[in-house]
Order: sequence, then C-alpha cells, then structure tokens
Amino acid sequence: PSGEISVLSTERVCSICQEAFDQLDPRHFSYNSPAGWCPKCRGFGEIFWVPEGVDRGAREEEIEETWYEWMEGERQVCPECNGTRLNPLARSVRLPVILPESLLRQLLDRQLVTYHQGSPAVTISMISAMDIATALEFFTAVKFSGRAAIIAKDVIPEIRSRLEFLVEVGLDYLQLARGVPTLSGGELQRIRLAAQLGSNLSGVLYILDEPTIGLHPRDNQKLLNALKSLKRRGNSVVVVEHDPATIKAADFIIELGPGAGVHGGQLVKACTLKELLQSNDSVTAQCLRKKVCYPTRGSRRPVHLTDKTASETPDWLILHNANKHNLKNLTVRFPLGRFIVVTGVSGSGKSTLLRECLIPTVRATLKGEAKKWRQETGMWVSGCENIRAVHEVDQSPIGRTPRSIPATYVGFFDEIRRLFASLPESRMHGYGPGRCSFNSSVGRCPVCLGAGMVKIEMSFMPPAFVVCSTCGGKRFKLETLQVKYRGKSIADVLEMSVEEALEFFQHVPAIHLPLKVLFDTGLGYLKLGQPSPTLSGGEAQRIKLVAYLVSGLKESQDIHRQRKRNLFLLEEPTTGLHMADVQKLVEVIQQLVDFGHTVIVIEHNLELIAEADWVIDLGPEGGKKGGEIVAQGTPEQVAQNKNSFTGWFLRTILKK
Ligand SMILES: [Zn+2]
Ligand SMILES: [Zn+2]
Ligand SMILES: [Zn+2]
Repeated sequence: PSGEISVLSTERVCSICQEAFDQLDPRHFSYNSPAGWCPKCRGFGEIFWVPEGVDRGAREEEIEETWYEWMEGERQVCPECNGTRLNPLARSVRLPVILPESLLRQLLDRQLVTYHQGSPAVTISMISAMDIATALEFFTAVKFSGRAAIIAKDVIPEIRSRLEFLVEVGLDYLQLARGVPTLSGGELQRIRLAAQLGSNLSGVLYILDEPTIGLHPRDNQKLLNALKSLKRRGNSVVVVEHDPATIKAADFIIELGPGAGVHGGQLVKACTLKELLQSNDSVTAQCLRKKVCYPTRGSRRPVHLTDKTASETPDWLILHNANKHNLKNLTVRFPLGRFIVVTGVSGSGKSTLLRECLIPTVRATLKGEAKKWRQETGMWVSGCENIRAVHEVDQSPIGRTPRSIPATYVGFFDEIRRLFASLPESRMHGYGPGRCSFNSSVGRCPVCLGAGMVKIEMSFMPPAFVVCSTCGGKRFKLETLQVKYRGKSIADVLEMSVEEALEFFQHVPAIHLPLKVLFDTGLGYLKLGQPSPTLSGGEAQRIKLVAYLVSGLKESQDIHRQRKRNLFLLEEPTTGLHMADVQKLVEVIQQLVDFGHTVIVIEHNLELIAEADWVIDLGPEGGKKGGEIVAQGTPEQVAQNKNSFTGWFLRTILKK
C-alpha cells in the first residue's frame, strides 16, 4: 500500500531479524526432502490422527508403509501449509512469468498466478494446484526473461512432453498434486503407462490388466493409440481385457475358456481377429458377431417427465443443490423403480454425485436428520417416502475368512443344515441343525473351526492359508460326515457346483430357488462352499445382488411386508466381466428393478448403458470443466444430444 515502507534485501539475509537462508536448490521444492517439506505434516499435506491400536512412534521410519494404516483414521488438511506440503521458504519463492493476456486473466481468476512487484509470477504450489490440461496450456505458452529464459529452454520441453503423455492416456483432469492413494486402479495404471511413453525403451514386454477400467469410450481411443505407439517402438504389449474396442484393435488374440471356473482353464483360440470371427467355439467371437438390438428385453420401462417444475412427486427422487467438489449446484432427478445409469468422461463428477451427495443425503433423510444435513451441506432430497434402505453393492469380498461361502451369504445354507438335521440318521443321534454349522462347536472340525483351512501367520509376510490336516479340508468331524442325504455328506454338498446342486436339490424348493437365481446369474460354476478369499470381485458383487434378489423373491410371497423399496448403487460393475457376463449382470439388475427397486449404476460400458431405462450424462469434461448435466433421458434421447460424448457413442451402438 502507498505510504508504507517495505524493506527488501538483495542478500539471502533478512535485514530486520537477521535470519539467513541457504542458497536455493531443487531439494527446497521437494516435499519428499526434509529441506522442502512442511515441518508440521512432513510433506503429507494432511495431519493424521492415528487410529487406535496403531503405534505411530514404533514405525515412524516406515512412513510409506504406515500411510495406508493412517489413511483409515481421522485426517485433516495441514493447517500450516494448507495441504501444499511445502515449507514456508518454498512457498514464498515466486517465479516471474510472461503469459499471453487471455491465459493470464484466466489463471489470475483461478488464483494460479499472482502479481509480484508489478509482474505476473507463480509459486510452486500454484503449479501443483493446476490440473494436467491447464498445466500443459501454461507450459506451452509461458515465456521467461533473462537468465530464467536460458535455463527454461532445456527444461520446459521435457515438462511439456511428460504432460502430453498424461493427456494421451486420458488423465488431463487430474490435479498435479493428487496423492497416489486417492487414484483409482485404472488411473494409476494409466500413469505408469504415461511414464513408459516417455521412456524410449524397446524390447520390453508390457502386461496390462484391464487398462480401460473407468475410461469413457472417448478416451479409449487415446489409450489404444498409446499402446500402439509402444508397439511401434519395438515393444510387446499383452493386455487382459474384455472391452470389444480393445479386442478389435489387437494383432493377436488369446482366448481362454470355454467357461469360467471348473469349465475354464483351456486355450480356446490363439489367432488374429479375422480368424477369431470365423470361429464357432469362441464366446468372444459370438459376442463380437452378434447384432444386438437394445434393449435386449425388447422394451424399456416408461419414464414420464410430467410437470418439470413440480418438485414433489412420488415417482421421482430429486436431489437438490448437489455441490461437492466440481458439481455445480445441481438438481438431479432420478426416476424411482427404474434402471438408471450415470455416465460421463473420467473426472466429470459421477462418483461424487452419487457417493458424496445422493447416498449420504438419502441416508440422513431416512434417519430423520434431513434438517441438520441440509444446514451442514446445503443439500436435500425429496421423494424418499417410498425408499426403505440404500445399498451400495461393490466388489469387496463377501467375507474375510474361508468360512464365508456363497451358500452362507445367500442364506440357503440354513436350509441345507435343516434338511440334514431332518434325516433319520441325524434324528437317531439327536443331531440338530447346529451339527452342520461352522459357528457351533458340536459338528465342525475342532482344529480349523469349520474353515477347512488353517491360517499361518508369517513374520514379514501376509498370512497364508493351508488345508487343515485334521479334517483334510472337509470342515466337519467324522461323525457329522456320516450323515448322508441321497448318498452325499454335508462336505460333499459344499464341494458341489451350483449347477450340480441345482439338480441334486430340485425337490427342495427352499434350496432350489436361490440356486436357480445363482445359476441364472452366470454363477453356475461356483462351488457352494467356495471360500470368500478365492472369489473375484465381480463374482462377489453378483453374489451380493443374488442375495438381495432372493430376499426379494421371498418377500414377494409375503403380502404383509411394507411396499417400500430399496435403492441400489453399483459402481462400474462390469469391471472384469466378459461381454457374455455383462448380459447376465444386466439380467440380475433388471430382475431387481422388476421387484420395484431402483438401481443406479455408474458405468462407461456402452452395452450396459444401452440397456438402461434412464441415462444421466455428466460433463462436459473432467475436473473443473465438468460437474454439469450434459444430457438426460432414455438412451435414445441421450444419443440425439449433440453435446454429449456418451450420446455420440450410444448412437453407433443403438442403430446396429
Ligand atoms: Zn526477518
Ligand atoms: Zn503441512
Ligand atoms: Zn479342519
């Protein structure tokens, strides 16, 4: 301000308090170095309140290892550095820059550039606050003067090409300072890929596991181009993938199968796409060849957009003022009792809308805390009257121990135990249903406690499971195993696949019904006693859906239950699923909706989007440029929308 005197020093010593500073070097700008990190948070940008039972002092040296443990406790943005991770010295260094007028104004608005002594300048924190697209724009346009220009001449092209690689793999929306633990698996894999694009190695074998997870079809092509450029440099790229576009782009395709689990494990085909398409025994070829008309069940459930201004209606769940992260105070309408897909390019705000806005708001409302929630967050929801509960159905395991098996999770193991208890042999010995229970000590193996496996703790390594030597993995005492139903013991039954058990129990409706649902979901190959740790994420997710379906089926026979329905949320359920299995998943979802439930799915998979009753497309881009509704309606309506990337791709698949 005018009239005030400010004292500046040309030496690295403060003329008032005499504090002296070292000559600056790159370490001062690294939060991984004691010279650069914020002394309060040691470069994490967050303060961790260590969860109970974790001894912070003992493992202070192993910061990286304890990071994940700490992440589970309470966290808080570091008040000292405001999350920028750097110490005051690094944060105070301003680099004068020359920028074109329009970019300068835009960056000033977003506080990514400041004015210092009459000239535009940036701090390192401002640069790390940029998303990758903005950073690329900045480093493409920026000019320096004097000595800085000479140094920048060699450095800037390096920075720019790395940013370009990140854009190429579809990560332009990521903020430069994002911590790796907050990235999704797909994002992390694509970052590694970007690093490889920057190296000029050849003769390397790259193996990627579903790199298209979470990728919008628009960015799929970019990823494929990146893989092809690795190939052109003399590398080999092996990709495990179910995505049709990726399969079609491959030079050579190896198909394993023919089925899953016990029906799989064989080499079905190893050939080019052209040969594969002519094959009759390849499931992949059948799916690629098939001309599908969407929706495959013939018609969609109607959605009537009645009076657009009416805010209260029993048919719509309406979320007001969704405002977290990049969401622009959205009002979003979800038709109840319908199959809804929320889609949009990566980073457009899909997860935020559902996980951080809709679900917590509905939960707060169901708990009677709507008022408090609205005061705290500004968000509220109408149309909850007919919702009983919210369920997020994810790919996490159905249980932590080998005692968690499909039969217990879906609930029909109780019926099987009751059946065994009713047999003459059991009655003679006075065995009750507890005899065949993992939770009761009367019948189970006393060593493994019914797990069939024993956990071995190994120092410095994760625990391992080995088959129990006492029961030989049969889980039960010898006497228990002597009770037989149609010649099979309880252990034999647990060894059966769903498909085998379906026939075996065809005259016991209470057991047959859930088995039928499991079979229809494409899980016929699973063993009834398959331990949870051996199930894939996709399998676990479908088992959970089946459990809800089965309880819905039972309930529909009970007219006294309230007619309230559930709200289900699934995030990218097609991850890890072959095209043929996507169809089976869709069928389970459709059945849940037939019962009157509402299913909301976050998904990029076009085959699944094309089956939905209602699509909400967020965008138009990721990060700051996203967070708005680009299009909503039936898949056909979204396909007509010229502004929707999703619509553009839907158009091609709907007219097939
Ligand atoms: Zn001073
Ligand atoms: Zn800090
Ligand atoms: Zn045992």
